[in-house]
Amino acid sequence: MENLQQKQTADMTEDIGEEEYLAYLQRRRKARLMQSRRENLSRRNCLQLRLLLLTSVVLLVCGLAAKLFRARPVSVTPDVRKPEWITENFLTPNPYSRPQTALHEVNAVVVHYVGNPGTTAGQNRDYFESLSVTKETSASSHFVIGLEGEVIQCIPLDEISYCSNQRNNDTVSIECCHPDAGGRFTAQTYDSLVRLVRWLCDKYELDCGSDVIRHYDVTGKECPRYYVKNPDAWKQFLEDLKNPGE
Ligand SMILES: [Zn+2]
Repeated sequence: MENLQQKQTADMTEDIGEEEYLAYLQRRRKARLMQSRRENLSRRNCLQLRLLLLTSVVLLVCGLAAKLFRARPVSVTPDVRKPEWITENFLTPNPYSRPQTALHEVNAVVVHYVGNPGTTAGQNRDYFESLSVTKETSASSHFVIGLEGEVIQCIPLDEISYCSNQRNNDTVSIECCHPDAGGRFTAQTYDSLVRLVRWLCDKYELDCGSDVIRHYDVTGKECPRYYVKNPDAWKQFLEDLKNPGE
């Protein structure tokens, strides 16, 4: 076999001359090299295509799974079974008092006083409403309790109010009316406040002792005035929250 090949090569060399034969060999080598490169390239392209396909399928599956299993946004504050003593009179949505920003969690209830002696709950609610026109400031409250103990709800419980500064995002706010500049609440206002705060604590599973705070506890503002100037009155209020029926 080897002899035959050598003979053929020798014959060929004789036929076409040594120089041409060498050129022929070089051309063959070059052709083989090109062929091998083409094959490699095509193999690599095939592999890349497969990887791309696999990645797309994985991404698609992950996307679908994420969509299926994503926790549905749960409204922490479905306004169901609201007591009949709460009168809903929601503000018209507007950037100054009802921006309709979602309230995702409630970690505390903040008590305020309106700071405008003798005004009614309705008047304070209408003041918040008027801000949409006057644009003089941003302010609102979820609830306003009037001098007669009436409770008006101005903002749905799944939206924030503009009342408690840096705690707007995780609290429910209550403004209380008061007959004079001292800021002490009437007995009716006080009783309604106790009832409303108890209902909220129950609804959001809050601790009536530690999760009920004054505006003062957030910013140091003298609000609600009487219960900042008289810390014992505030302590008593917290006690009253814990003792239903007394
Ligand atoms: Zn306040």
